[in-house]
Amino acid sequence: MGKSSLLILPGDGIGPEVMVEVRKIIDWFGSNRGLDFDVTEDLVGGAAYDAHGTPLHDETMAKALLVDAVLLGAVGGPKYDNLDFSLKPERGLLRLRKEMDLYSNLRPAQCFDALANFSSLKTEVVSGLDIMIVRELTSGIYFGEPRGIITEGNERVGINTQRYTESEIERVARSAFELAKRRGNKVCSMEKANVMESGVLWRDTVDKVHQADYSEVELSHMYADAGAMQLCRWPKQFDVIVTDNLFGDILSDTAAMLTGSLGMLPSASLGAPMENGRPKALYEPVHGSAPDIAGQGKANPIACILSFAMALRYSFDEGVEADRLEQSIENVLSKGARTHDLLGEEGITPLSTSEMGDAIVDALTDSI
Ligand code: NAD
Repeated sequence: MGKSSLLILPGDGIGPEVMVEVRKIIDWFGSNRGLDFDVTEDLVGGAAYDAHGTPLHDETMAKALLVDAVLLGAVGGPKYDNLDFSLKPERGLLRLRKEMDLYSNLRPAQCFDALANFSSLKTEVVSGLDIMIVRELTSGIYFGEPRGIITEGNERVGINTQRYTESEIERVARSAFELAKRRGNKVCSMEKANVMESGVLWRDTVDKVHQADYSEVELSHMYADAGAMQLCRWPKQFDVIVTDNLFGDILSDTAAMLTGSLGMLPSASLGAPMENGRPKALYEPVHGSAPDIAGQGKANPIACILSFAMALRYSFDEGVEADRLEQSIENVLSKGARTHDLLGEEGITPLSTSEMGDAIVDALTDSI
């Protein structure tokens, strides 16, 4: 196999700032671990609109479909708030997700011990937490037809339709089982089979995929409302959770907040395997472009760096190096290094975005 290709789309606001730090990490892996990436950089969001009058140029879209992985910073900002809907920065990101057909959205909730006191839950409930929510991203109630607001008699009726085909459920279930095999080997599938036919089909299909190809993975089912309670009561009971688009939207945000700051949360969106066997993949931090702190050196680059760690693990099959990167971040945090968003304790001078990037590079060097 040739060099692994990576398309970097820094985007807007703090996106370019945190991406500079990711580039330092990529360079470190190139110089010290022989991981040679063919990296190209391009525009997305407001930056693309400023240059080309569109939030994603066709050429950039074409590149995204060819590379092994895309890493995106963030898009959006007040400057673009009054643009026509079709030109808004977010449309660039939505187009990438749609044309790459990224149906499996991975949202880890991982608690670094040094930050356990940031959670709203008790330290013993979240310390050491490492779960992964797999959310179906391209179907379900956000896309189902019929939809709209109609008039019936003398009042309006809002309509959305929850619709899932077996193949849509099957492919996201496979994605969850594959992940579980690389982690704690446990999947919990969440739906509302007690009140929704789509939930009955979901449960049945997940069971069939499990019996056919993944019987070595432990599978359980839970109603999504009970799942939300269990996530807050004892989240460490879970390894991989797989669920639909709507429940996944809510459950992944709930799980994310178990661990503290937005500046720490990575994500991945995966699609079908390409010819080389790697899934189409887009990695991005959960946070937005944070215009309130952009340009001030205050952004925490860790969410974006952790997104690159996910790329190492899920696109480039470099799980050991992904572990090394995550452990280096843990080491930096446990020595007390904090960016502005992670302050809380008295007497700590925050690191700038670039100082945090440098500290992680130093910790990587210490790891070899
Ligand atoms: P946001 O995530 O940009 O910021 C929310 C709050 O968290 C802000 O106070 C910000 O300073 C802080 N924050 C976020 N990331 C941080 C980091 N890495 N380090 C330190 N602090 C951080 O959400 P918002 O303010 O609602 O949205 C701002 C813009 O971003 C909007 O234009 C929105 O549409 C866009 N947005 C884009 C994405 C994306 O690109 N995927 C996601 C969400 C919002």
